[in-house]
Amino acid sequence: MTDAKATPAKTHRFATRAIHAGASPDPATGARVQPIYFTNGFVFDSTEQAADIFAMRRTGFSYSRGSNPTVAALERRVADLEGAKAAVAVSSGQSAVLLVLMTLLRSGDAYVASPRLFGGSLGLMRRLDGRYDLHPQFAAGLTPEDFEAAITPRTRAIVCESIVNPCAAVMDLEGIAAVAKRHGLPLVVDNTLASPALIRPIEHGADIVVHSTSKFLGGSGQTIGGVICDAGRFDWARADRYDLINAPWPDYEGLVVRERFPDMPFAVACRLFGLRDLGPGLSPMNAFLTLTGIETLPLRMARHCANARTVAAYLKDHPKVAWVSYPGLPGQEGAALAERYVPQGPGSIFTFALKGGEPDAIRFIMGLELISHLVNIGEIKSLAIHPASTTHRQLRPEERDAARVGSETVRLSVGLENVEDLIADIAQALAKLD
Ligand SMILES: *Cc1c(COP(=O)(O)O)cnc(C)c1O
Repeated sequence: MTDAKATPAKTHRFATRAIHAGASPDPATGARVQPIYFTNGFVFDSTEQAADIFAMRRTGFSYSRGSNPTVAALERRVADLEGAKAAVAVSSGQSAVLLVLMTLLRSGDAYVASPRLFGGSLGLMRRLDGRYDLHPQFAAGLTPEDFEAAITPRTRAIVCESIVNPCAAVMDLEGIAAVAKRHGLPLVVDNTLASPALIRPIEHGADIVVHSTSKFLGGSGQTIGGVICDAGRFDWARADRYDLINAPWPDYEGLVVRERFPDMPFAVACRLFGLRDLGPGLSPMNAFLTLTGIETLPLRMARHCANARTVAAYLKDHPKVAWVSYPGLPGQEGAALAERYVPQGPGSIFTFALKGGEPDAIRFIMGLELISHLVNIGEIKSLAIHPASTTHRQLRPEERDAARVGSETVRLSVGLENVEDLIADIAQALAKLD
């Protein structure tokens, strides 16, 4: 159990903390880089110590499914950058979303969800509804009023993305947080497309932040991972709900997580139930690569945003392009929210459509030479995909329209290449559409 506090780097600015927070030279060897602890088990000093760690009476490492020193360094760093009390790293972004829902809800509970989410999240929500009776209540639109209108007495949480995958819409986090607060509900924000370099949802009222570290945090498209952050300030004390936090755990001698860990009860419940019981822990190797990626996050995000803005502006003015969904350009839908929440730019993942519809969308992707046809996002390399036949394939046509990924849509993830080379590649692919 290692929800250790972040190291004193707290007083430093963001770029410094991206490099230093949560890790320090190895006390055993002096190694400057965070060592990779490839070990499943950790030797106990005594049987009392072992029993105490298992019963959550003291912190310490026991078995790497639940916690590991390399993974703990990543957890401390992401918690620090997000302004969270604690973080729990997991094997993928998908399992981060799953563990948050499973830890918050029991069968019969409902939660309000944004109608526009990453396709994998929408698919997961539909399956959990059908098999486990965890019911998503999709808001009719993206405004705080839409979210409020979807709340019922069964609602136990609100879930949205800070910047929406793939349409780049920037959500009104403060407006939605005010709705959540008014109804006593925790606000869960998937911050994958912004990363803490662009948006820190906790500063805008979020209670729980999740990431797929497979994207901008790792940055190089090498490893899958996820992380869950607990802001530590939601008032969970309600007898009729959140039983993993409020009710005694009989197999832990009546442990009440909220009482024993008042600063970070959600993170502790995620670790106990999500990692000890369910099991999707992160490999120390993946934690190490992700930590290395985070060290350059602020630099990369600035360039990602600048390149994306240039590419989006080029596409918007191109005669073969029907529309571009990138609120970082003036006059675009959602530009006011983008200006308010992400002055640097709304990331580098966005959609556009060709006047030639689906056939041209496919031909455009096949015509690219430098930009890879690939399903990941948030990598150093630029990527393109046709969401309707891949990431959002499992959705019904009306759900695809609600998520703004009709068959005419192309998604781009703009990388860090020289932007003139990216424009040249796009120009030659567009020139082939005649
Ligand atoms: C990719 C992604 C996920 C899922 O993450 P994986 O690491 O691929 O499992 C969740 N949410 C968003 C917004 C994503 O882009």
